[in-house]
Amino acid sequence: MNKSFVESSLCEQDEAFEVPLRPQSLDEFQGQDGIRERLEVCLGAAKQRGEPLGHCLFSGPPGLGKTTLANILAKAMGTNIVVTAGPVIERPGDLAGVLTNLQDGDILFIDEVHRLSRAIEEYLYPAMEDFTLDLIIDSGPSARSVQVKLNKFTLVGATTRLGLLTGPMRSRFGITCRLDYYETSVLQQLVLRTARILNVQIDDDGAWEIARRARGTPRIAINLVRWVRDYAQMRSGSRVDAVVARQALEMLSIDELGLDELDKKILEIIVDKYAGGPVGVGTLAVALGEDKTTLEEVYEPFLITQGLIQRTPRGREATQLAYKHLQRPIPNSMEDI
Ligand code: ADP
Repeated sequence: MNKSFVESSLCEQDEAFEVPLRPQSLDEFQGQDGIRERLEVCLGAAKQRGEPLGHCLFSGPPGLGKTTLANILAKAMGTNIVVTAGPVIERPGDLAGVLTNLQDGDILFIDEVHRLSRAIEEYLYPAMEDFTLDLIIDSGPSARSVQVKLNKFTLVGATTRLGLLTGPMRSRFGITCRLDYYETSVLQQLVLRTARILNVQIDDDGAWEIARRARGTPRIAINLVRWVRDYAQMRSGSRVDAVVARQALEMLSIDELGLDELDKKILEIIVDKYAGGPVGVGTLAVALGEDKTTLEEVYEPFLITQGLIQRTPRGREATQLAYKHLQRPIPNSMEDI
């Protein structure tokens, strides 16, 4: 089965393409004003004191700029960034290898930090607090612990599931920033910037049309610009206005709210097959033939922020808005809610 546009947008690693598009400084990073200001303060203070930055945690749905911010921090501090991910660090030895190679002030970026095993977390605590690592060498009666001194580094963690991070891990980050979906006006600016870099002729209305269907997510906005560019090149002499943008996005089956086919299928299953719900997320995943984690991390949060579904203790329920969006009659039982 073909991946939906959203999913492929969020999974594809098109690094070579993304590099010139990735903002290099906080000034170029659009939106998330509160987070930018806080980071400016932390960066300024750390630089003035000549100390490494405190450990930072970025949370929020995929594609909102967590990795970008980590790279911006490293650039601003003039240090290296070492990138890894929670599931990759399986044994304490893997972690020791990474930590002992860090230079003073380096940034260690751990993506999906909620997927670190508990054992690895335990090793990470003294490293984050005192820059030491307690390694057990040998086994059986001759097992002993050796303390290794580490250079002072900054851990930047990213997670799409803040709730899955353990309390002790969370409390060891000095700065916690929660990234929210972007306003359409901010994404419009991002679309215009992307179009400039990619040499696409687009007017403000065309940019707005793309922005409002990008699910509040910069990575999706960027991928939509690429698609609209291809479409315009083949069908409209390369110029993009609102009409061209709308036609191009309709071809991807992305509707007015930015919902793609899978979003619509989710709503249809809840409304048509389960009479509006509640439906457990596991059941939904099976009915869709989709991975449960993707459903929980990518699709659900957006449908919830749009007010189309709600999470209840018994499962997911469709709202009146979902019925209206699917053009289904609203059940009597819902009328007075
Ligand atoms: P995450 O790590 O949260 O999944 P990324 O940092 O990889 O997301 O961002 C995805 C893409 O969106 C990158 O290509 C980046 O250039 C772009 N991007 C994200 N946030 C912004 C922003 N605030 N301003 C401009 N571009 C952004």
